[in-house]
Amino acid sequence: MNVSDELYQQVILEHNKKPRNFGKLESPTHSAEGYNPLCGDHYHVFLSVDEQGKIDEVTFEGSGCAISKASASMMTQALQGKTTPQAIELFEQFHKLVVGELKPNEDEHDLGKLEVFAGVWKYPTRVKCAALSWHTMSGALKKDQEPVSTE
Ligand code: ZN
Repeated sequence: MNVSDELYQQVILEHNKKPRNFGKLESPTHSAEGYNPLCGDHYHVFLSVDEQGKIDEVTFEGSGCAISKASASMMTQALQGKTTPQAIELFEQFHKLVVGELKPNEDEHDLGKLEVFAGVWKYPTRVKCAALSWHTMSGALKKDQEPVSTE
């Protein structure tokens, strides 16, 4: 295992054990449900967006594998205080990262700690686990009525 793999394992385990912003929001402005049938990951994402379009609060609840839960937890941290266009932009960057199109050492990005997911593209079945909460968040912002599915 190289250093980045080790860091990845540590971060995933830590967020899985102690997920951040876990729970329901009382009165979200946006929310959506997301499934990853391949793995059984199932989450709700709740957002509270103010009149200026800034994300005041973002939480999630549900259950799934360690990667999906850690990814959701880190997403809620990354989105706090962002505007909704920034959130969508970050989702696009994160998606490119997990499919291996964005190289964090070469390409410009705002991923910060989310960089630990850089190696996920090597495990194609895990890409959906890592991206599920982000797809769900983006569905919530677009006010999708249907549950989001990775399939
Ligand atoms: Zn999963």
